[in-house]
Amino acid sequence: MQKRLPKLLFLVFILLALGLLALAGWQFLPDKLNIGWARDQDLQISFFDIGQGDAALIKSPSGHNILIDGGPGSKILECLPKELSWYDQTIDLMILTHPHSDHVDGLIPVLKRYDVKQILSTGVVHSSPTYLAWLDIVREQNIPLVIVDREQIINLGNDCLLQLIYPLTNLSGREVNNLNNSSIVARLTYKDTSFLFMGDAEIEVEQELIQKGVYLESNVLKTGHHGSDTSSSEEFLNLVKPEYAIVSSGKDNSFGHPSLRVIKRLERIGVKILRTDELGTVRMRSDGKNIIINDK
Ligand SMILES: [Zn+2]
Repeated sequence: MQKRLPKLLFLVFILLALGLLALAGWQFLPDKLNIGWARDQDLQISFFDIGQGDAALIKSPSGHNILIDGGPGSKILECLPKELSWYDQTIDLMILTHPHSDHVDGLIPVLKRYDVKQILSTGVVHSSPTYLAWLDIVREQNIPLVIVDREQIINLGNDCLLQLIYPLTNLSGREVNNLNNSSIVARLTYKDTSFLFMGDAEIEVEQELIQKGVYLESNVLKTGHHGSDTSSSEEFLNLVKPEYAIVSSGKDNSFGHPSLRVIKRLERIGVKILRTDELGTVRMRSDGKNIIINDK
């Protein structure tokens, strides 16, 4: 009897532990699973409050993580963990729209911290130390880098497509007068909803896209060049017909972004303006039909 007692106690302990686990699972797991599954099927985009710069994370309905630009400094490392769970440390696709430091800086610590699978850039020439450092790390880590030089469509699965619509020529190894106008421009669609990411592209690029007859209409416009009046011409806005415009700029920045003229232009056509300097990180969720803003 004395010998059997510890065994019995052990058994009771195990049963108690299993019971507690089951109870915890019963209470928390179904809820968590339900919310989790429902939400994972939505497209999610976070436009980060990154200061004076640009950084946006797309989580596709099939679970791909796409990072467009990394903003200045390393603030991105504070932003990403809020969107990605601790076991999700993969960036399936990193896009560098153009090599200015307010877009490339943060991509360096991301390469060091996260598992980046593939990169899109234009390969345009720029000799800033951060861009060269970024290129060095990409080479060191042997990450496949694809040059965007024509219209291409990336199928993200579940009816979610990322369409690369600019540049339409190969800028690899070339110097350009205005790096803003070398920006990769992308249009993301998920069923009936669409999002246009302009990088820092200016009116010249808008004109080129209009002249080439590129389909631009989108529910959401990430305004070009932080809402500066170098971008978002009236003609362009009339074609994009956005419901929402994201302005990614830093509070009291020295550039005076966004331009009051652009803000007024957007307001005149009834666009709802979402500014990261006023709202912090702006989160959008699409079920393919409706776009929900900041619901978490
Ligand atoms: Zn910029």
